[in-house]
Amino acid sequence: MLRLSAVLVRGANWVNDIVPDQNEPPDSPSRLRRELEHYRLVVEEMRRRIRGLEDELDTASTMAEVPSVVVTRPELRNTLGRLVKKLAMIIQAEKVLLLLHQPEVNQLTVLPPALGITEEQMNSINIGVDDGVSGWVFHNRESVVFNDALNDPRTLKNVVSLLAVRNGICVPLVIKQRDEDERLVDERVIGVMHVFNKRFDEDFGTEDMRLLEMLAEQAAAVISNAQLYIQLTEEKEELQEAFESIHVGVIVVNRHGTVRLLNPAAAEMLELTDGQYSGRKFDTVVPPGDVRDLLESALTSGEERTVEITTGEDDGKIYQAQATLMTREDTTEIESVVAIFNDITEIRRVERMKTAFVSTVSHELRTPLTSIKGFISTLLEDDEGMYDEETRREFLIIINEECDRLTRLISDLLNVSKIESGRGLDLQLADVDLALLLRRVAANHQPYTKKHQIVADVPDGLQIRADADKLTQVLDNLVGNAVKYSPNGGKVEINAEDEGDTVRIDVHDEGLGIPERHRDQIFQRFHQVDDDMDHRSIGGTGIGLYLVQHLAHAHGGRVWLDRSVVGEGSTFSVRLPKDPEGETEVEVGGE
Ligand code: ADP
Repeated sequence: MLRLSAVLVRGANWVNDIVPDQNEPPDSPSRLRRELEHYRLVVEEMRRRIRGLEDELDTASTMAEVPSVVVTRPELRNTLGRLVKKLAMIIQAEKVLLLLHQPEVNQLTVLPPALGITEEQMNSINIGVDDGVSGWVFHNRESVVFNDALNDPRTLKNVVSLLAVRNGICVPLVIKQRDEDERLVDERVIGVMHVFNKRFDEDFGTEDMRLLEMLAEQAAAVISNAQLYIQLTEEKEELQEAFESIHVGVIVVNRHGTVRLLNPAAAEMLELTDGQYSGRKFDTVVPPGDVRDLLESALTSGEERTVEITTGEDDGKIYQAQATLMTREDTTEIESVVAIFNDITEIRRVERMKTAFVSTVSHELRTPLTSIKGFISTLLEDDEGMYDEETRREFLIIINEECDRLTRLISDLLNVSKIESGRGLDLQLADVDLALLLRRVAANHQPYTKKHQIVADVPDGLQIRADADKLTQVLDNLVGNAVKYSPNGGKVEINAEDEGDTVRIDVHDEGLGIPERHRDQIFQRFHQVDDDMDHRSIGGTGIGLYLVQHLAHAHGGRVWLDRSVVGEGSTFSVRLPKDPEGETEVEVGGE
């Protein structure tokens, strides 16, 4: 406006200047011709000036050409890039710098891009919220013009020298909120904007400052809107990512029955494959069944139910599905239904295993107890001396063996409970003569069976450091299984081999073997092969190998099923470091 009126005033003077000589008669043709010529020139000049003004107006109005929505960080950077360029052109400044207030650190930090300032320079600028011209402008919400940057007491000299600042203007970046009638309702300062070094060695004036204030208001609005939008988009993306990656299935259906969200876990659970669910009616997405019923009853009768859903056949999954109603604020009107699906297959499996375990353990305890009680009662009732000394002794041997079986079982159970409660299996390390220990294990098991031939083939003098009791427990379990799972008898061989820093022990039997699909699982607690009657009828608790594995690990060793052929037999192998306190890395498998 200022410029326009100045031009008009100047234009008027200029018109007066060209009015011809007053002494000439007004109607003389030459005077009229000259006047006509002059007025033609005036009109031409006016046209030229109008074109110039139109150009200026164009530049100023393109400042308003800010995209309505800036949605990404690169977009904001580009928009600000254009903005600072135009701004520098209008104000005729060499450099432009935007500083944003960071409330977390209470500092004014550079918001790129700047103009005429390198990336490196930008990185080294960090201004405290109370420092220099920027701090003053930020706090006082008033602009400052400084035309002698070096000597002005308000400027920060390190920034002045870093950016070679001669002069500048600093204006606050203010977000103004207006109501429908354009009345100001709120004002917030988000940072400051600097322009430095007026071109052609000139000074900045108050006119530049006013213009910059207007432009700064626009820049502040762009920055704040964009940041809000970007923050929202990024938060939304984060939520979306979390939602996509969680293992819990989630379906959100609005009150009109339209699917708003359905994450991959839910799609997998419902065995959906076409990938596009959002925006479709839930009954065209969710197949008939429990889940559809659950959503249906929540939508129509506002029922919040929890149901258990089983998918697939034998090895299918079990889900706990829960429908929750989302109501509108302050009302009971349903906004949407959120259904959540938790995979509880593992929980149910462990529950089933525990129940089975309690019944097997009770059975395992009752069998020896029944036998002990039977033999003791028989002996007590024999007042008349029906049984001779040898038979009575046989009875006592059986009672003794059954007591040993009970003791082993109870000790296994106690060890499992130790492992489960996170308490370690304390080792009492000592030098152990492995040949002696293995031969003793073989000898201890032999009396219990006539069908098997238990042999220990171990080189003499094989010494290791180990907990002898716990190592015996490992071998007892492996040899016990070898005997137990060879119902038709056969050879049970125990071999040991010196491998340098480690020893390898193999326990081989000629029994039932282990079907392929169980081989990875037999070391899990409670796991038992239940495919055939032969395995099932043998009994057991399913904790032996689990314990063996923990005991081997406690020694820094490993145990694995080396070979098994159904109907031909199995070989279990253990590798132990000779010194568990040494650095030896123990691997599974053969060389
Ligand atoms: P259990 O008390 O049932 O014997 P284990 O943990 O010792 O428990 O063994 C787990 C399962 O592995 C057993 O139930 C059995 O089915 C199988 N198993 C273990 N050792 C052998 C073997 N030597 N031959 C065949 N099957 C075996």
